[in-house]
Amino acid sequence: MLDIQECLERVTQQARGLARQGRVASYIPALRHVDPDGFGLAVATLDGRVYESGDSRVAFSIQSISKLFSLVLAYQVAGDSLWERVGRLPSSNQFNSLIELELGSGKPRNPFLNPGALAIADLLVSRYTQMEGAIVQLLRELSGNPGLDYDLQVAGGEFEGAHRNKAAAHLMKSFGNFSNPVDDVIRAYCAQCAIACSCRDLALAALFLANGGADRGGKLVLEARQAQQVCALMMSSGTYEASGETAFTVGLPTKSGVGGGVVTVVPRFGAVCAWSPPLDGSGSSVAGLKAVELLAIAMQKTVFG
Ligand code: GLU
Repeated sequence: MLDIQECLERVTQQARGLARQGRVASYIPALRHVDPDGFGLAVATLDGRVYESGDSRVAFSIQSISKLFSLVLAYQVAGDSLWERVGRLPSSNQFNSLIELELGSGKPRNPFLNPGALAIADLLVSRYTQMEGAIVQLLRELSGNPGLDYDLQVAGGEFEGAHRNKAAAHLMKSFGNFSNPVDDVIRAYCAQCAIACSCRDLALAALFLANGGADRGGKLVLEARQAQQVCALMMSSGTYEASGETAFTVGLPTKSGVGGGVVTVVPRFGAVCAWSPPLDGSGSSVAGLKAVELLAIAMQKTVFG
C-alpha cells in the first residue's frame, strides 16, 4: 500500500531543487515578484482525504488552469454546441500564438490555447452577467473554500498588457466567431486568469474529473463522457506545445498555468496539484511537472498494480 504522505515528502525533496532551471513569468509585475522558491503539493483522493506538503496552502495565480474550469462551465451551459466555437485539436504552437487562428478561419484549435479560452469566455459572457464570478463560484463550491477569489492587482496588470489576447479576439470577430465587445470579454478573461487558489484548493476542485464527473457529494458537475472528454483535452493540449511530451512523461491528464500551478488527474484515484513559479520554455512549471510525473509513477503502481 502506497504511503501517500511519505511519497509527497519524498517527491517534494526530489522536485523542488529543479525550480532553479526555470524562470518566473515576467510579463506583469505582480507575477514577476512571486517567490521563486515557493513549492507546494497536494493530493485529494476519492476516499475523502487530502495530503499536503510544502506551501500547499499558499494562494497563487491560477492563470491558464482557469481555462479548465471555464470549459466545465461552458459544457454546463452550452453542451456540445460549444464545439461550434472552438476545436479540440492539439497544437504545436505557443499558448498565445495567432498563426493557426488565421489559418483556421477564426476557429481556435482547442479551448486551452488563449484564442480558444477567449472564445469560451465570449460564450460565457453571453450567458452570465459576471462570468468570472461564476468561475470563482464554481471553484469555491468544488474546493469547499468560500474565501477564494481573484486578485485585482493581477487582473489589472493582465488587462494592461493584453495586446495579443485583444488581437486574437478581434481576429475571431472579423471571422464572425465572437459576439461581445472585445474589451468586455478580455476584462472578464483577465479576471478569470487572476483567480488565486492554493494547491489544496485546486486538487479538491479537480477531483470530480477523477470521479466520472461527480463531485465529493455525488452531484454531477459534468456527465461522465464530458468529464472524460475534458481529461482527453488536458492530455492532448493541457501543456500547450509540450503536451505530447507531458503525455509521455506524466501519462495522465495535466493542465498547467504560467503562475506555476500544475493540475493532474489520476482517474478513479484522485487529483494532484503542484506549484512552483519558475517555468520552462513552453510556460509550465519545471519543478511542478517533475513533481506530478514522480507522483504519477508512484500512484499508478498503486492503482494498476
Ligand atoms: N493570462 C495568461 C495569458 O493570457 C495565461 C497564460 C497561461 O497561463 O498559460 O497570457
